[in-house]
Amino acid sequence: MKLYSTNGKAEAVRIDQAILQGLAPDGGLYMPESIPKLSPAFVDALASHTLGEIAFEVAGLFLSEVIPDSKLSALTDEAVNFECPLTTLDTSTSVLELFHGPTYAFKDFGARFMARVMSYFRRDTNSELTILVATSGDTGGAVANGFFNVPGIQVVLLYPHGKVSPLQEQQLTTLGGNIEALEVDGTFDDCQRMVKEAFVDSDLKSRFELTSANSINIARLIPQSFYYLHAAAELQRRFNDKVKISFSVPSGNFGNLTAGLFASRYGLKVERFVASTNINDTFVRYLEQDRYEPKASVPTLSNAMDVGNPSNFVRLCELYRKDDPSIHEEILGASFDDDATKAMIVSCYEKFQYLICPHGAVGLLGVEKYRDTLPEDTQHVMLATAHPAKFPEVMDSVLPDKTEIPDGLKAVLSAEKKATAVSCEFSQLKDFLLTR
Ligand SMILES: *Cc1c(COP(=O)(O)O)cnc(C)c1O
Repeated sequence: MKLYSTNGKAEAVRIDQAILQGLAPDGGLYMPESIPKLSPAFVDALASHTLGEIAFEVAGLFLSEVIPDSKLSALTDEAVNFECPLTTLDTSTSVLELFHGPTYAFKDFGARFMARVMSYFRRDTNSELTILVATSGDTGGAVANGFFNVPGIQVVLLYPHGKVSPLQEQQLTTLGGNIEALEVDGTFDDCQRMVKEAFVDSDLKSRFELTSANSINIARLIPQSFYYLHAAAELQRRFNDKVKISFSVPSGNFGNLTAGLFASRYGLKVERFVASTNINDTFVRYLEQDRYEPKASVPTLSNAMDVGNPSNFVRLCELYRKDDPSIHEEILGASFDDDATKAMIVSCYEKFQYLICPHGAVGLLGVEKYRDTLPEDTQHVMLATAHPAKFPEVMDSVLPDKTEIPDGLKAVLSAEKKATAVSCEFSQLKDFLLTR
């Protein structure tokens, strides 16, 4: 398999090169020259397969040329070592709970898989790979956890002092081991600038192998396609193998939705995808007006989706040739404000005694918006991207004292914080790297 850059000015590369590079040298995102297909026999027998079997089969579509089967199977098992239950709300609606990994959000799928694949590609390299990550919150926690104790890899996280939530800060600063946190006296943009300066600094480049682990890496999309097939397998077991399925995906940078479209290209039949956003609705407006007009992001209650210029939009453009009307046959768009989000958290609890986080509430609003326009026998699956206890302030403001903190999160909250305070001067990052 070869992957090309969406900017069209870099050479096509093998999958291992695309994963180790992250971003293509011309600044584009890597895409497979054609999306591989699962064998019809596998898709026909989907209901007989476990999540682990699906993960191995799908990972093999991309990686079988570069990772032997036995290694790949161990790697996918280790990456996805947590549950992914499909919880029924009513006879035609269910929630795919993607938040049972170590950081209680779906980004664990992508980060854990990417970490293990990168580590495998560097198995014969004696030197250490140093991953620099600037984070405004959630991504950093998943990346830190994903790479925790992964051999040959050192992670340095930069986060803005006082600008991440207390829980997020604990997730960034309490692991220890190969994860180090720098608490920057500045903004997220300062953190990002410092990381960018490090990548072009000649002293650092000669001393370290530096890379980033941001969300545009193709290795994060592959594992995110596993669970669409897993949900379909589960519904086929509960209903039959002709069951019609629609997925509502709470979206920000659109990696999750892109992974769903990959799953449909492998051969999974999907009735519709609903791209559900908060008022940061650049993609929804694009669907309505055929014009892409990114805007500065606006803060909302579903803050992991506060994205004004979604990074995976360029990948979506590759999946649909320009002006291809079929995008409207596959994807419906819907955006909702914070009042609607709060009202949905409450009504979901009142109707089903089910607690949904603000991102999931946006997803459920997307289900409701289109339910009546889809065939009556459709099963609607909403992708629950985070555990409600990650957002205690929002949950308690609409449903006081209902959200319990799971033991795993309590443990993080009481763990000892270890972070090095630095100013927002690049020289402080450089000194830290050179002297640690
Ligand atoms: C990152 C994130 C999203 C958005 O996912 P994208 O792949 O960027 O569209 C939604 N919900 C939560 C909780 C997230 O952390």
